[in-house]
Parts: sequence; C-alpha cells; structure tokens
Amino acid sequence: MQFTKLRLTGFKSFVDPTDLVIADGLTGVVGPNGCGKSNLLEALRWVMGENRAKAMRGAGMEDVIFAGASSRPARNFAEVSLHLDNSDRLAPAGFNEADHIEIVRRITRDAGSAYKTNGKDTRARDVQMLFADASTGAHSPALVRQGQISELINAKPKNRRRILEEAAGISGLYQRRHEAELKLRNTESNLTRVDDVIEQLA
Ligand code: ATP
Repeated sequence: MQFTKLRLTGFKSFVDPTDLVIADGLTGVVGPNGCGKSNLLEALRWVMGENRAKAMRGAGMEDVIFAGASSRPARNFAEVSLHLDNSDRLAPAGFNEADHIEIVRRITRDAGSAYKTNGKDTRARDVQMLFADASTGAHSPALVRQGQISELINAKPKNRRRILEEAAGISGLYQRRHEAELKLRNTESNLTRVDDVIEQLA
C-alpha cells in the first residue's frame, strides 16, 4: 500500500481544496515560516485517525476547521482525503476489494467527525486499524514533527519501547488484545449472572 494523494478542504489554513501528490520515494515539504507545512503533516495524521486535539495544536477538534481570515469567513467543515494505491492488495480484509482506496474524514461544527472509505461509512476504529496493520498511522514514528527528536532522546525507556513497537507494526495487536480482554471480562460477568439465575431457580 502506498499513499498517492492528500486533499485538504477547509482544514486549518488550507481553506480552498488543495491537492498534494505524494510520489514514490521521499517527499520533502519546504516553505517559509507559517505557510502551513506542519498543517499538512497534521492533516495526514488526522485522516489516519488522530483523536487528540492537543496533537493537532488545538483546544478542541473543531479547531482544525478554517477559522476565517480578514478577507475570508470561517468554514463550517473541514475535510481531508487520503488516496492509497492498493494494487499489491496488502490492505486488511474489509478494505481489500479495490486497487485504489480513498479514506475521507470530515468534521462539521457541532456535529463531530465521520469517516468514509471509497464512499462508504467506516468506523474510526477500522481506519485506525488499517493504518496500524500497515505499520503507519497517526502516531507513526515515520511522521517526524518539530521537537520530536529531542523528545525521543529524553524519553523514558517505556515510551521509547512504544515507538519501536509502532515502527515494528505490532501496535495493532495491542489494540486487538485490549478488545479481546474487554470481551472476555464481559463474558465472565455474563456467566456470573447466569450462575446467579440458575442458583435462584434451583
Ligand atoms: P513553521 O515553519 O513556522 O513551523 P509551518 O509552515 O509549519 O510554520 P503551520 O504551523 O503549519 O506553518 O501553519 C501555521 C498557519 O496556519 C498560521 O498562519 C495559522 O494562523 C494557520 N492556521 C492554523 N489553524 C488555522 C485555522 N483553524 N484556521 C485558519 N488558519 C489556521
């Protein structure tokens, strides 16, 4: 799977629809201070499922919506779409029907955010899992933000291990284990309830 295009609409400073073609190999983004380089990286994280407003440098998630400028009114929604080339058919089941996958995340003021995959409604969890299984995602160590290198050097061993695990592509397994544990706990409490009912009937 490979990223091929990122489209931003009303996302932070990118008020008009803006396409960024992501070619093979390394992509560098250069430009003067404040032109929106970090906003681009945040858009990529956001469409892959980032849910922490702080990681988007905002107080709330709606802060990603274009807030207006002297010559332009604020927008009511922000949308980011990410195109993936899946011609190697390595996407997990549920996403693997087509050679081309388009993930869209849209946030509307007072209505929260929602995802679509090739036009169909998709759960946030499934989008996050798609990228975790592909060893990438909102927290991927491949997306290096300003100050991250010094954070890594000063990080506690436990946090450094998490970064290595994400790079190794096993963070999706932790999420699955956590969900399996929750199901197991639910089943155990259901069984206890069944025992109580049987006891009352006996
Ligand atoms: P630097 O090189 O200084 O780190 P940069 O190129 O990474 O800068 P960004 O931090 O991506 O720039 O962009 C900052 C710009 O985005 C600022 O001008 C800020 O006003 C604008 N901006 C951020 N959020 C919004 C928003 N919700 N609506 C409108 N503009 C926004």
